[in-house]
Amino acid sequence: MRRYGVLTAGVFGVSALLAACTGTTRADVIDDGSIQRVSTTVATIETTSTAVEDTTTIVTDTTPETTPETTPDTTPVTIWQPPPVPTVLGPTGAPMKPPVVRPAAAWLPNGVPAPGSMFRDLAADESLAPMGPVVALTFDDGPSQYTTQIVNLLKLYGVPATFFQLTPQSQQRADLVRQMQADGFRLGVHTKNHVKLADADPGTQIDQIVGSIDQLEAITGPGTVRCFRPPYGSYDQYVLDLVASKGLATAMWSIDTLDWEKPDWFTIVGRVLNGAQDRSVVLMHDGGGDRTATILALPWIIQGLRDRGFTFVAVC
Ligand SMILES: [Zn+2]
Repeated sequence: MRRYGVLTAGVFGVSALLAACTGTTRADVIDDGSIQRVSTTVATIETTSTAVEDTTTIVTDTTPETTPETTPDTTPVTIWQPPPVPTVLGPTGAPMKPPVVRPAAAWLPNGVPAPGSMFRDLAADESLAPMGPVVALTFDDGPSQYTTQIVNLLKLYGVPATFFQLTPQSQQRADLVRQMQADGFRLGVHTKNHVKLADADPGTQIDQIVGSIDQLEAITGPGTVRCFRPPYGSYDQYVLDLVASKGLATAMWSIDTLDWEKPDWFTIVGRVLNGAQDRSVVLMHDGGGDRTATILALPWIIQGLRDRGFTFVAVC
């Protein structure tokens, strides 16, 4: 009975296996424990087969062949962003404008520097090219009791020039300042009290720069001052930002006559004639001390430069 049962189990087991593989039921041929074990084996095979199929399916889903189709959608796109502009707080605690990009020289036409720029000579003002070699005369520290003589000499020779003034002195000689403006001379500011700005605190820098602009424009009119020249050529980043925020250019120079040291007048002449190149900016003084040597030198400087082919231009 048991042997028969085993044989029956084997026959029915194969049938059950085939039934399982074809998906039909086998409940009607199961009548004892042996058959039940075969059925269990079949179920195991079935389960294993299913598992293998499932595994195959999973492997198929992760096959690299399908990866290129999804890559464009899932790859993060990196977009370059400029670094944030830091907020600069001024001495009053209020945010300042971001630092202005200042090229070495930037010019509007005809000797007018771009607001916020800094220059030492006129090299980048292409509008002056048709004039041939040009040179600019500038005078600092006035107006003073010597300024009228210098202005009269310049007018006599028909030479334009630029004056960077200490504005309390401008207030004292307001009529002269207005006449200089009417005569076509260009006027800039040189602080109120000739302060060495790099050594000054921000409050003093504001007072000396903004205050001097306000004082001069009270005489010449709003928006007429286009340039600032720092005393001693002394400045720091805050000074440059402050000047730029007021729409002015920072005016330096390329030939220093050192006339404030009161050399002989012919020494001043020699420094200009020997140093002058096309687009030079010459630094002299119409205030700050006895300017007799500067006045004596001026006709020789003018004639000497003209003999060398230079044309005079104003800046600012
Ligand atoms: Zn000065």
